[in-house]
Amino acid sequence: MSVVEMNVSGQTKARADAKPILELQGLSKSFGAINVVKDVSLDVWPGEFVSLLGPSGCGKTTTLRMIAGFIAPNEGRIVLGGKDITEVPSYRRDVGLLFQSYALFPHMTVRGNVGFGPKMRGETSGVIADKVRWALSLVKLEGYEDRRPNELSGGQQQRVAIARVLAGGASMLLLDEAFSNLDAKLRGRMQEEVRELQLRLGIATVLVTHDQEEALAMSDRIVIMNGGKVEQIGTPKQVYSAPSSMFVADFMGRCNRIEGTLRQDRRAKAWYLDCGPSGTIKLETIPHPDAREGEECPVFVRPEHLRLTQSLENHEGEGLKGRIERVVYLGSRSVAYVTLEGNIPLQVHLPNKPGISDEFSIDRPVVVVPLPGAVTPLPE
Ligand code: ATP
Repeated sequence: MSVVEMNVSGQTKARADAKPILELQGLSKSFGAINVVKDVSLDVWPGEFVSLLGPSGCGKTTTLRMIAGFIAPNEGRIVLGGKDITEVPSYRRDVGLLFQSYALFPHMTVRGNVGFGPKMRGETSGVIADKVRWALSLVKLEGYEDRRPNELSGGQQQRVAIARVLAGGASMLLLDEAFSNLDAKLRGRMQEEVRELQLRLGIATVLVTHDQEEALAMSDRIVIMNGGKVEQIGTPKQVYSAPSSMFVADFMGRCNRIEGTLRQDRRAKAWYLDCGPSGTIKLETIPHPDAREGEECPVFVRPEHLRLTQSLENHEGEGLKGRIERVVYLGSRSVAYVTLEGNIPLQVHLPNKPGISDEFSIDRPVVVVPLPGAVTPLPE
């Protein structure tokens, strides 16, 4: 049985016992007087793919390095597989780290690179050869054993780096901006391959990234960090469609902020937002449990959840009147920059369909209508 298979069965047991494979408990780290990671707590479950996502300098790499053991926390504990590893040196931690730069040994062949971990542990040449063969087959690089890193493409080098981590037999993977060196197309392919491999092996993984799409595409859960703190932990859908703060709403994609006053139609059991001269939009549900009529209630709505129409007719008077300032063509969609009456800027995504000519031209009066359920009260 391979090391990872052993880990997989370990994870299966952990899942049955409902114990996290990794626990970060109140981790904090300061460099000099600057506190860059502040009381970060997180449980990673067996087989789970978790991304640490946030803007540059938010502390995600420092957090990953603390898990890997390259940096010691000032406060808090790190527990791996039920064992406190806070004081354990990095080379004794059962984690495999994949760097942005791959960090392959340039003078060694693919075989030498992939077999490095087992060799350092003093495994027999037969076991090393088995592990190299197994890991290279997982990343589909059989036949490349005798090449050196400079004889490989960027994607192939990354596969070798992944194979090296897998052959090392770690119980979890740590990926540090692992795809950011690749061009856009290859990046997408490697993200898919790594996720597929991760699911197949059932190996718990933590990825550090500043790329929202990458985190959304790959993760079971995303940890959004800001200024050293955790802002929100949730599934990709939760952090995108139900952000817990304005920071998360904004960071996870373009969002339009609309101010208005609440109005209730008791008979229809409906809530509306009166947005001054531009008009009124309907809220699907009570915006919050203590909502009252007349209350100022900022909301947000994603550009892809808005539609443009020519007039308020057929919309029961619900919609916001404005004027198109600019339309930017982006291939699969266009972005209409609209200014609502009352001088509120708004972005609306228009899907580009074949055979349809430009329906909305600049300077034209339009009505912006949200899709049902699209308007969400703005978190504080
Ligand atoms: P990026 O996406 O740019 O890599 P990040 O979220 O990964 O950002 P970190 O690398 O964790 O951020 O850095 C967090 C803060 O800590 C930054 O302000 C950085 O300058 C600082 N920092 C990181 N390492 C050190 C160090 N060894 N000494 C001093 N300051 C550091």
